[in-house]
Amino acid sequence: METIINNTFINEGQISDILQKYSKPDQAQVKDVITKAQELKGLNLEDVAVLTGINDPLQLHELFETANFIKDTIYGNRLVIFAPLYISNLCANECTYCAFRAKNKGITRKVLNQEEIANETIALINQGHKRLLMVAGEAYPKQGFQYVLESIRTLYESKTDKGNIRRVNVNIAPLSTEEFRQLKNENIGTYQIFQETYHRETYSKVHLGGKKRDYNWRISSLHRAMEAGIDDVGIGVLFGLFDYRFELLAMMQHINELEKVFGVGPHTISVPRLEPATGSDIASHPPFAVSDLEFRKIVAILRLAVPYTGIIMSTRETAQMRRDTFALGVSQISAGSRTNPGGYEDEIENEIDGQFSLGDHRPLDEVIRDVAGMGYVPSFCTGCYRLGRTGQDFMDLAKPGAIKSHCGPNALSSFMEYLNDYASSETKKVGTELIEKTIKELEGLPKDRARKLVDRVINGQKDVFC
Ligand code: SAM
Ligand code: SF4
Repeated sequence: METIINNTFINEGQISDILQKYSKPDQAQVKDVITKAQELKGLNLEDVAVLTGINDPLQLHELFETANFIKDTIYGNRLVIFAPLYISNLCANECTYCAFRAKNKGITRKVLNQEEIANETIALINQGHKRLLMVAGEAYPKQGFQYVLESIRTLYESKTDKGNIRRVNVNIAPLSTEEFRQLKNENIGTYQIFQETYHRETYSKVHLGGKKRDYNWRISSLHRAMEAGIDDVGIGVLFGLFDYRFELLAMMQHINELEKVFGVGPHTISVPRLEPATGSDIASHPPFAVSDLEFRKIVAILRLAVPYTGIIMSTRETAQMRRDTFALGVSQISAGSRTNPGGYEDEIENEIDGQFSLGDHRPLDEVIRDVAGMGYVPSFCTGCYRLGRTGQDFMDLAKPGAIKSHCGPNALSSFMEYLNDYASSETKKVGTELIEKTIKELEGLPKDRARKLVDRVINGQKDVFC
């Protein structure tokens, strides 16, 4: 029997009341929330409201320090790396902020065929990627939904002598429960979908046509995905459309609802900020623009509120903003991204036909060198998902120390594999030093595991993980 979905779990009245009550929190209230967050058990709506009310520089500093403490305790110095693969920019919807919207005449439409998708995948494998996020507009004219399923198969089947893609995550429009079952059968990793804005009035103002106009269909999509057996789901808000304080509390209501119904919340949270897009006015003039400081605050608050949920930072943001947010809780980043279908094989950065403009244009090798130079270990690991450690199982494992003892060694071995197979000599030098330094600083079981796994890769083995 299908789960009955309660579409009223976003309670706008409750959010407004709580935000008003804690709009100017006193020092004791902030201190209490920070102390509670240090226990790594997450926060409730009221706590999050208190944190959104912080403006005092000293309190902000404390918030950032706490976010850094949590990130460090749970995730260590690991940063998971992925790239988006846009298979089509055709779309039947009218999202006012997006270059792919149906009536936008300013871009060239492209629906990649399977051969072109294979070529894109090979181009990404040749850069060193192991995890992809498949993205598409909502219109599959020739084969319908079968196009999506076939494209995932192509992504997994494309191979070079050095490797293949080991995890395909998907960001496409909401599906029916039956379609989600078919998606699950293709062995996808995470299914992610962003509500864009949880505020109903704003939602209807910015979504002018197509199926995406239906707020309820979208808000209930992760229920259907989980109902269909997809354990790892990702949520997100497009920051800039409405008040970020409201969005954070609504996001908490969404998370609480998934936890209540399925016993586990989302695997990841994405924090896209509105970027300029061809043919979109609102994208260049966000009605609720989020400043850089507020953006860092958003990441830090999420790190305190849901410590075990991964936070994803895309190349929408500049290299500097990405660097700033690693310490505040970001655990996954995309790198070397193109948002125009066919953009990897062409090797041309075509901003006009992309979905939005990028803030970080650096190639993967440069991002990896930069990240490693900062002391973060880029991870290409896909072990958990391939060993069935997903959903609740992953969350059970994700106790302090446990992520570190599995994911830490796996990150190092997958990074070593990248360095052997794809890195420039400069990056290899920085990366090898970091791997050795990291192993040296480990103790006990994680140290033994890391040494053994890394040595196996040095001796020519691939795809080793525990
Ligand atoms: N078409 C599907 C959908 O809308 O759900 C799939 C994903 S869409 C291609 C990916 C995401 O890009 C959207 O959910 C939206 O949050 C984001 N996006 C769209 N326009 C953007 C812009 N101008 N700046 C930043 N992100 C944008
Ligand atoms: Fe289409 Fe998604 Fe862009 Fe909306 S955000 S126009 S649904 S691609």
